[in-house]
Amino acid sequence: MCEFCTKHGEGKKWYLRAENYSEDLLSDLRRRRFIGDFFKDPDALGSKIEETNNLNRLPSFVQAVLRPALVNKQKKVHYGQVVPIEAIEEILGFVSSVTRLPCICRQFSSGSEHRYCYGISMVPGSESQMLKIQRSIDADYLTGPDISGLEEVPKEEALEQMRDLEKKGLYHSVWTFVAPFIGGICNCDRDCLALKATQAYAFPVMFRAEHVAGVDPDRCIGCRACMAACNFGAMRYSLANKKVDIEAEKCYGCGICRAYCTKDAIELKDRSAVPEAANIW
Ligand code: SF4
Ligand code: SF4
Repeated sequence: MCEFCTKHGEGKKWYLRAENYSEDLLSDLRRRRFIGDFFKDPDALGSKIEETNNLNRLPSFVQAVLRPALVNKQKKVHYGQVVPIEAIEEILGFVSSVTRLPCICRQFSSGSEHRYCYGISMVPGSESQMLKIQRSIDADYLTGPDISGLEEVPKEEALEQMRDLEKKGLYHSVWTFVAPFIGGICNCDRDCLALKATQAYAFPVMFRAEHVAGVDPDRCIGCRACMAACNFGAMRYSLANKKVDIEAEKCYGCGICRAYCTKDAIELKDRSAVPEAANIW
């Protein structure tokens, strides 16, 4: 299990623990302020992520001290973990409301609106703090001066939407807003700023799933449909046997390749059962 399960999971996967979505955690004023600021200013957020690259310009001995300290600080506040669709289904089973909202990353990087993100909350029958915080935001970056970009979606519909997004190659992740509170599910691709910080800038803010994919060579026909869908470059094709396999060390365990395989040749295994990937997060 990952460090977040150890810290926030009490014996289970931390993102499947209902307490980590609890409204009670929102009584913390610091957390409420953080969420409000987060949604208020996508440009500031995007610039902050770009600034993580400044670390790479420092002398290596300075980086060696600063990087772990800054990454640990970040892990206390805002980080994400990739999760497969089965986990999304479980999460939507116990949260009480889902709000679809435009993706801040895409707004920052391309100026365009894509409703790929979902705010989630846990208060049945009344408006949650999370929704109140979102409503209080002067969200000029959304579709207009009003906040019509916020859209409550029935849970079953949200699950279907996310299944459809998988078929477009988008993988799912859960996000903290001052850990361990989880307030959002994102559906990401190569435009994700968190992925950029993690991979291009060596500043990890998005972590791998508890799973790793594996290909059954007896079922694989080598069509390569899965390869085009992998956002992490974790799949390779062998000319020798005309089949695909997965580099476990690169696999984020998102399961998107599986959604593209019509031969049921791909399954997700527990990361702990794959020695070469067990300790890579
Ligand atoms: S999509 Fe399935 S059958 Fe096609 S290459 Fe990938 S694993 Fe093999
Ligand atoms: S190989 Fe791994 S990272 Fe790539 S799509 Fe499949 S599960 Fe995701």
